[in-house]
Amino acid sequence: MPDNRMYQTNDKSPLQIFVRAKKKINDIYGEIEEYVLETTTFINALHADAEIVDKAERELFESYVFKVAAIREVLQRDHMKVAFFGRTSNGKSSVINAMLREKILPSGIGHTTNCFCQVEGSDGGEAYLMKEGSDEKLNVVNIKQLANALCQEKLSESSLVRIFWPRERCSLLRDDVVFVDSPGVDVSANLDDWIDNHCLNADVFVLVLNAESTMTRAEKQFFHTVSQKLSKPNIFILNNRWDASANEPEFQESSTLWVATCAIDSFQQVKSQHTERCIDFLTKELKVSNEKEAAERVFFVSARETLQARIEESKGNPPHLGAIADGFQIRYFEFQDFERKFEECISQSAVKTKFQQHSSRGKSVSGDMRSMLDNIYERITIFRNLKQDQKNLLTERIQGTETQMMQVTREMKMKIHNMVEEVEEKVSKALNE
Ligand code: GDP
Repeated sequence: MPDNRMYQTNDKSPLQIFVRAKKKINDIYGEIEEYVLETTTFINALHADAEIVDKAERELFESYVFKVAAIREVLQRDHMKVAFFGRTSNGKSSVINAMLREKILPSGIGHTTNCFCQVEGSDGGEAYLMKEGSDEKLNVVNIKQLANALCQEKLSESSLVRIFWPRERCSLLRDDVVFVDSPGVDVSANLDDWIDNHCLNADVFVLVLNAESTMTRAEKQFFHTVSQKLSKPNIFILNNRWDASANEPEFQESSTLWVATCAIDSFQQVKSQHTERCIDFLTKELKVSNEKEAAERVFFVSARETLQARIEESKGNPPHLGAIADGFQIRYFEFQDFERKFEECISQSAVKTKFQQHSSRGKSVSGDMRSMLDNIYERITIFRNLKQDQKNLLTERIQGTETQMMQVTREMKMKIHNMVEEVEEKVSKALNE
């Protein structure tokens, strides 16, 4: 477990809902574990001393110890997972890099991700990668090496490479967000395998589109399959490369007012067309959200610009340094708006899907234990009452015997007395004669 005190925390981040809930539920399970261990020791002692607890019951109690330990282990590993999908080169890796504020995943021509790549936080400042089915930590020194490692490997498209990146380098990793980058939806026919292997525990899906073209059948089909397997998946749509659209000559600023106005109008028209199609896809086709929710899930961004801006910011420069297309600020704000809404959504969804199940399990374990203990307590009470009854019976018997003996003694005494008197009388009578 990371020691969160080591890192600067942003208490206002919506991700803290998950972070705090995780801490709380881990603490509660710590207490449950102590309680279960203590009770099991007690039950074992009871089983040894008296025949109040039978073997099956004792074994059931011991099974709770393992159950709780297993849940604790899962809980400590629980995280928020976001998976990115879309066609090759739409900018999935670039979006992830922009969110991580660093060029971690290789992107661009020749660096097509041909397998699933998961980026997650590592403790101890180490960066390394692990291939599926192996525990070997392969050291990653820089992005170039990582790119080569991913490209050289003959990896099957649905296999997973896990990239561990130091938590302290990025607040999202520190707060337990795990990113999954996928090969383009246009390259695979195994969507079912993808979903079963990598998506069932995803809290949020991000569909990265190329704003310069329309959504393809492959992109739509993928999410149709997802929404058949998961009830109401949380889907965000990013119309990426929006800077490239702004750079289109027909949308460029013009010296003539009339031409400039027309350009802005047609730019807005394209934007509303895209927005309408995306909203229709979420509401009418997938039926995963209503109009209002869907409108909050569609964004027009430029991942490349955002990453560039963040790299500049980290050097202490203004974010717009190096931005070339018009409207950078608006796109940058929109990316930040997406991140905020994404953080709120993933945090709440992960708390619900991950912890709700654990807390109801915890409730049922403690409920089962309680009713078993109530049962045992009842048996102990009956046993004690039985002993008391036996004791009372014995006391009564002893008292009865005592009274009897006293009576017999008294009668004997009288008899002896009478006999002595009789003998005395007889003796004195004989003497007188
Ligand atoms: P992926 O295959 O979906 O992961 O796409 P990549 O992130 O590798 O991006 C493919 C190419 O598109 C790279 O050369 C990126 O630099 C470029 N790219 C990504 N996002 C943007 C963007 O917002 N604007 C522009 N102009 N290019 C982008």
